[in-house]
Amino acid sequence: MDSDRVRVLKEGRDKEGPVVYWMSRDQRARENWALSFAQDLAIKRRSPLAVVFSVAEEFLGAAIRQYGFMLRGLQEVETALEEKGIPFILIRGDPGEAVCRFAEEEAVSDLVTDFSPLATKRVWTEKVVERLDASIFEVDAHNIVPCWRASPKQEYAARTFRPKLKRLLSQFCGEIPEIRVHPHPGKIGEGAEWDRLLQDLNLDRSVPEVEWITPGERAAMVALDGFLREKLPLYDRDRNDPTLDGQSNLSPYLHFGQISAARVALEVYRADADPRSRAAFLEELVVRRELSDNFCLYNSRYDSFEAFPDWAKKTLNDHRADPREYLYHREDLERAATHDDLWNAAQKEMVLRGKMHGYMRMYWAKKILEWTESPEEALRTAIYLNDRYELDGRDPNGYTGIAWSIGGVHDRAWGEREVFGKVRYMSYRGARSKFDVDSYVERVASLG
Ligand SMILES: Cc1cc2nc3c(=O)[nH]c(=O)nc-3n(C[C@H](O)[C@H](O)[C@H](O)COP(=O)(O)OP(=O)(O)OC[C@H]3O[C@@H](n4cnc5c(N)ncnc54)[C@H](O)[C@@H]3O)c2cc1C
Repeated sequence: MDSDRVRVLKEGRDKEGPVVYWMSRDQRARENWALSFAQDLAIKRRSPLAVVFSVAEEFLGAAIRQYGFMLRGLQEVETALEEKGIPFILIRGDPGEAVCRFAEEEAVSDLVTDFSPLATKRVWTEKVVERLDASIFEVDAHNIVPCWRASPKQEYAARTFRPKLKRLLSQFCGEIPEIRVHPHPGKIGEGAEWDRLLQDLNLDRSVPEVEWITPGERAAMVALDGFLREKLPLYDRDRNDPTLDGQSNLSPYLHFGQISAARVALEVYRADADPRSRAAFLEELVVRRELSDNFCLYNSRYDSFEAFPDWAKKTLNDHRADPREYLYHREDLERAATHDDLWNAAQKEMVLRGKMHGYMRMYWAKKILEWTESPEEALRTAIYLNDRYELDGRDPNGYTGIAWSIGGVHDRAWGEREVFGKVRYMSYRGARSKFDVDSYVERVASLG
């Protein structure tokens, strides 16, 4: 593996003890660079290897919908690791705290974790680095080009990021190593009580699990296979039409790391499909997705007004006092009780299905800016709803997509108008000219 994928967060004291991979963002046993790195290290040291996952009792408002998807996926990880002689241990509590306790009890020599640019994981990791005397490594197992290698700074837009990424792709996009049966067994931790755990956790159960998508690595590969065969050939034509199911629906798997983005990219790259469709998909999966990580890594205020570019802050400030034709409270929006049937349908699609169509996400967030008292309130409301209902919520893509829609992040200035100032506007009429709005509204109504 390319050593640029790994950062040493701490050089610990040299000691005997197991190597542990603290799994967090990349919840898979297959094709996981962090796990492979941990195994190579353990083999070099002739040490046992274990994987630990710490379940936070509360995570940014996640409900049973997201916890269920995650825990069912992790159960499959446990089985896959068992077959390789690697124990999987589930612990509970604030991960920063719980991982330290576990590592101290087990006298861990080296701790490996996966990379996330988001604040919560960074705070947990800082705590662990401060407290433990083990060696600690961070591996970017999520991005194809490690986030810190792709660029050392926040990029302005896809156009500035794309060439940097492309230059590095061949270096980082080779075959991904698989784990082997681990040659140094050890007795570490105990198996998880999965059913009890899901019942025990004090979660918001008013946002239920959904049935149209099956969690886990195996299901993710099946979904990828189906996408390659059935939808990729027409992706360029169909992806922006919310009346069609033309997207891959891989975002929940990618978000929880149940599939490797590098695997998806390799399969799409090799697929026998229209080059325009392959290029359009890779632009989203590789450039846009990794640009979101870049934004969150280098802009620690990624979920606030302060993160917007100066031109957008200025223009939104200039238009703060503009009269709003419609003003809605968060509750009205959450109940999909606006005057706009298209917006209401998008909101319902998210609430019922846990995944709003990608095109509608832009329209949905922009209307929240138009119908609330300030850009700050719009941002808070959009993040709250997105993270509460989307299966792929709490993701750099979500924070960046919302910041793009409301605050012009990675976009440019457009013609000036009320409320939006120079931030790009989207209209109901524009949507009607692009697709069959009534058919989308009917399709969502049939969901329940
Ligand atoms: C307001 C708003 C909110 C969003 N919230 C989220 C979110 O919470 N979680 C999330 O994963 N994505 C979010 N997105 C980005 C995008 O809409 C979704 O990634 C996409 O619709 C997921 O469906 P899919 O996997 O079927 O997409 P596909 O079209 O099949 O794309 C494949 C993959 O490419 C990546 N991708 C696609 N579009 C984008 C994009 N615009 N930006 C970055 N990466 C992209 C995703 O990883 C996606 O899974 C948001 C976009 C906007 C405008």
